[in-house]
Order: sequence, then structure tokens, then C-alpha cells
Amino acid sequence: MKIAVASGKGGTGKTFVATNLFNVLSGRGERVTLVDCDADAPDDLLFFPAEKISETEVTHQVPVINKDACTWCGRCSNWCNYNAIFYVPTAKVIEVIENLCHGCGACSFACNSDAITEKPVVLGTVTSFRTDRGYPLVEARLRVNEMSPVRVIKAAIKEAGEDGVVILDSPPGTSCPFIQTVDRADYVLLVTEPTPFGLSDLRQSVETLRTMNKQCGVIINRADIGDSGVKNYLREEQIPLLGVINYGTDIARSYSEGRLITEESEIMTGFFAGIADKIISEHGTGSN
Ligand code: SF4
Ligand code: SF4
Repeated sequence: MKIAVASGKGGTGKTFVATNLFNVLSGRGERVTLVDCDADAPDDLLFFPAEKISETEVTHQVPVINKDACTWCGRCSNWCNYNAIFYVPTAKVIEVIENLCHGCGACSFACNSDAITEKPVVLGTVTSFRTDRGYPLVEARLRVNEMSPVRVIKAAIKEAGEDGVVILDSPPGTSCPFIQTVDRADYVLLVTEPTPFGLSDLRQSVETLRTMNKQCGVIINRADIGDSGVKNYLREEQIPLLGVINYGTDIARSYSEGRLITEESEIMTGFFAGIADKIISEHGTGSN
């Protein structure tokens, strides 16, 4: 079973939830893998002593334009949805902006003059680790300057395989990296905070997940310092509220120092174990 832990915005506690779920399940000896899909800023590894097992580069194909063969028709530039081809026919200028290229191949397809070939460019890496408890942790990391982590995320999820429970720590937001992550998930656990910003981003996440027919539930983090808007929304939309975490300096301190609250608090261990058990029993393979 794949569980994605996601949030409409950064800073809500998504990584806090993902790492502690992983810690609780691995602590119980269950088959579980953690995949850090937040390829722009992966940090799950900070919480686990781990040994590096392997590292793979992820590449994509970017176009190379032969200006001698180019007829300056402009089709490649028109077909590019990402504005990655800078084209000024009057000045006979045509350049590929590699950082903007998503490697979709549309420009090569569009060119009728055989003026475009392709070359591989490294987008990022997928690195496999084994934690001190012997559990797999896979990290997607986008190369500095690259814009789209989608292929790196896909490769990391593939690397994790299908064994047991796979926890996907999703990138924040609701754009392509989020879609790519939750698309692979059987269940999406949304982490939010009880503020107008949290509610606004939660709505976007829920609406996106509904278009994808994904089941989801919500944890409200820092639940005691906001307003009731999120709870009212969940009630109106009949979205399961799986748990609330109140603000606590013990939690904030241990997290900021790179420690796991489930190593320090039996109450929080029970909280995360309860959430994992509920999701797995209701939505895992073999559940009704
Ligand atoms: S491969 Fe796709 S994204 Fe890249 S330049 Fe060509 S059309 Fe644009
Ligand atoms: S489609 Fe081909 S011929 Fe036309 S501008 Fe692009 S590279 Fe040149």
C-alpha cells in the first residue's frame, strides 16, 4: 500500500508526519519504506542515521537545434508549452533554454526539417539508504538549477518498489510534483493547519484529489492556535479528520533538533500508530 503524506503549502508538518509514521511502523517491525519525494528540498534523511546503498542519476532528453538545417519556421517554439525555445527569426536566433525544458519531445516531433536531435541532461538523483533499523529510505533530489522534479520523483517511487507499506513524503502545493506523487498513492493523508491560509490550500488539495478519485483524510497540526474554519470545512465536505496535534514546545524542539517525537513520547507513538492502523485497515490491500 502506498500512502502519500501531502499538504497544500509548506511548513504545515508534512515531513513531521511522514517521518514519524515511518518510524512507528519500522519500530513495530513492519515492512515499510519511506520515499522523500520533496525533491527540491529533501530532508527526511536528517531524522534517520542511514547508510547509503546506491545512487542513480535521472536524465531527460533535451533538444539540440542544428541552425544550418533550420528553416526558421517557428513550429518548435510554438509547440513548446514551457517557453523553453527562445526564437527570434528576424535575427536568426534560436536557442534551447535547457533549465526550462521538460524533455517532452514535442519540438522534435514538430520539426519537419530534421533540424532537432536530442541529448541527455542530468535532472537529479535517486539515492537509496538503509536506516540503522535496516529499513529502506529513498531520496529524490533535483539538481540545483533544474525546474521540474517530476521525472526524479517518478524514478524514486519506482525504486521503492511495491513491498509492504510505502510512505511518500510529497512535495508541497498542488502542481505537477504533487500530482506525480499522489497519482501513485492508494491513500492521501493531508496535513494542514487551522488558519485561513491552511484552509485555502486544503481546499485546493481536496479539489485536486477529487478530480483524481483519490481517497484522503486530514491531520490538523498546531490545532489549538487557529480558528474553526478547517474543522467546519471537513464536516461540510464529509472528509475524515484522522487526528489533531496541538502545538507543543516539546514537539517543536525535538523536530528542530532533528529528532523524532515518536522516539520520545509514548502518547505520540500511540497517536501515529493509531493513524497508520486506521488507514491500512480501511484502505490497504485486502481491506473492504
Ligand atoms: S522537449 Fe518539450 S519542453 Fe523541451 S524544448 Fe522541446 S517542446 Fe519544449
Ligand atoms: S521547427 Fe525545426 S526548422 Fe522550424 S524553427 Fe524549429 S528547429 Fe527550425
